[in-house]
This record gives sequence, structure tokens and C-alpha cells, in this order.
Amino acid sequence: MSFAQLRLDGVTRSFAGHDALTDLNLTVRSGEFIALLGPSGCGKSTALNCLAGLLPLTRGSIWSDDTRLDTVQAERRGFGMVFQNYALFPHMSVRRNIAFGLQMRRLPRAEIRRRTEEAIRLVRLEEHANKLPGQLSGGQQQRVAIARAVVLEPALVLMDEPLSNLDAKLRLEMRTEIRRLHQSLGLTTVYVTHDQEEALSLADRLVVLREGRVQQIGTPEELHTRPANWHVADFMGYRNLLRLRADDRTGQDEVVVTGHGLRLVGTPVGPVRAGAEVIAGVRPEDLRITGPEEGVPAVVEVVEYQGREVAVEARTADGVQFNLRTQTRPTLGERIGIVVDPVRLLVFPADGTDADG
Ligand code: ATP
Repeated sequence: MSFAQLRLDGVTRSFAGHDALTDLNLTVRSGEFIALLGPSGCGKSTALNCLAGLLPLTRGSIWSDDTRLDTVQAERRGFGMVFQNYALFPHMSVRRNIAFGLQMRRLPRAEIRRRTEEAIRLVRLEEHANKLPGQLSGGQQQRVAIARAVVLEPALVLMDEPLSNLDAKLRLEMRTEIRRLHQSLGLTTVYVTHDQEEALSLADRLVVLREGRVQQIGTPEELHTRPANWHVADFMGYRNLLRLRADDRTGQDEVVVTGHGLRLVGTPVGPVRAGAEVIAGVRPEDLRITGPEEGVPAVVEVVEYQGREVAVEARTADGVQFNLRTQTRPTLGERIGIVVDPVRLLVFPADGTDADG
């Protein structure tokens, strides 16, 4: 069932009267890599399972071009699935695991052999093709699971946290592997993760979910530079989130925010009213350290060397903590000034939820 675009139209799923996913509208174009991103319990897996046909919708519809899909059974959608627990057949060799789906389709033996060997090569498991899954590392098992899905040349591959059981190094390797596979095969992919970095590095577009609702859909760059609200900012690495108040000089392009002894100029995102409570956010790498006579005065409390950069925590006299990243290495207890670029300090309306939560 190939398509030019797949459309989710108001897709809603509830459990016992409580919405796990509310009104998801999304168009996936053929060849696109989409990441569903958000914290645990935000509805990512529910969305994926609705797409897969493993969960009936409570409301809404799914369309493959002009064909209604949500009424089609899971097996007949012909999508490939890769989960975090690889779900391989333990008594079958790698080769037989990969060939299994093709055999179920009763394809000619020569074709099964050709496509199986091609998939084995694609995931670089030539040397392990005769082994049982139990004889492989986690990363190798995950490669078998991926090969087993892509060998069927599905119109859509669905992946649910496929790397979450791997250690940090393997996770990075497999991330590159998935990107390579996607680029060489052009497979349309919907990928669930709670890992912001993973989503940013893999996806053409990201869908950020929170409590079952879409917060923003956009390219990595759009989400990074222009998060729609402070929840998305929080997820995109805006580690400095400050609860402040917009003062009277609130304009279209600039807003002055005050509180906790701070007075900063930022860029409003969304409707920021004068006098209203706001959340101001800035990323550690967008703050600059200078001498104490300039910017916000603070004292260095933590210095952590991280390869090419140094992560710094500094605190103001009023107890506001800033996270910074620099190339230079300040000393503990040093008095510094923190320079905040008004274009990089994004000011969001506060929405009654806790900035620390
Ligand atoms: P995680 O990363 O932890 O898997 P998630 O973002 O994938 O989280 P979902 O698994 O989609 O989240 O769950 C969304 C909400 O729906 C949660 O509150 C969850 O408890 C609830 N939920 C999911 N499946 C069921 C179910 N079968 N019965 C009842 N509630 C469910």
C-alpha cells in the first residue's frame, strides 16, 4: 500500500474516558522521516499504535492518499514495525528471522534468497547470518529487527524507541545506521522517542507531544530556534527557564522582563501582555560570559569539562541559577558577567503550569 502522503485527521484515542491522544492532525509525505517526541506518557506510542492498526481510534480518521486506512486491519496495512524489545524468533537464525516475512508472502525462493541476502548486507550482519539471536549483542539484534522490517519494502516503517535498550555508544552507532538506511532506501518512517537529540539528528520533521496534544510540528531548525511554547523550549534544550514578569515596555519585537533582581530584554513568542507572568528561556550555548562589570553579575559554582566545551553553573546574588557553555574555563568562585542576547532570550506566556515541572 504505497502512498504519496499519509494523513492523520483529528486522531483521538481514549482509555476509560481519558484521552491519551487528542486531535492529532499530521500529514506524512512519502520518503519523510517523522519523529514523535515527548516525555513518558505523552501519547507517542498511542499515536504509533493507531497508525499501525494495533489500536482502534476513538475519533478521527487516517488516510493513505484517498483511501481510508483506519478501518483496514493491521496486517493489511503492510507497515513494518521495529520495537525496543526486538521480538525476534529465538530458535531461528538471523537469516531465517529476516526471511520469515517473505516466506509468509509465498514469494519465489530465488527472490526470497536475493532480498534476504541484500537486507543482511544492508545492516552489515554478513558474518552473523547463521547465528541465533541469543548469540548477538543488543545492537546486532536490533539490526536484525530493522532488516526484518525493511526486507518487506513497506510503505511505512514504524519505530517505537528502537534504541532505548542499548548503551550510549551503541545508541549513537545505531542512530547513524538508521540514518544511513533511511537515506539509502528513502523509507517513509515514523519514529517514537523521548530523546530530543535522537529526534533532532534523525528526523526531517518533529512532532512534539505533551499530555496527548501536539505542541508543535516543524523541522529541527524551526523547533530549535523558534519553539512555540515553553514546554517545547524545555524539550529543545532551553535549560534556563525563568519565571519573570513582563514590564510596561512590551512591544511587538521586544519585551523587558523583570524579577528576582533581574532586568532582561527578550523576544516575545506568542501573546505576551504587559504586566503578565512569563517564562523566559535561553539555551546555555546562547549565553556569553564576560567580566563582572557587564551583563548579569554572578558567581561561578560548578565547572564541568565536557570535551571541547565547558559547562558552567553560576548563581546571582538573588539566587537565580544560570547554565552556560563556554570555550574558556572560568574558575570556581569567580565573579563573572552573563550577557544575554535579546534575540536569543525567548519570552513565552506562562500558562499556569510549573516551569520546573
Ligand atoms: P512512554 O514513552 O512511557 O511509552 P508514551 O508517550 O508512549 O509513553 P503512551 O504509551 O501513548 O505514552 O500513553 C499515553 C497515556 O495513555 C498514558 O497516560 C498511559 O497511561 C495511557 N495508556 C496507554 N495505553 C493504555 C491502555 N492500554 N490502557 C489504559 N491507559 C493507557
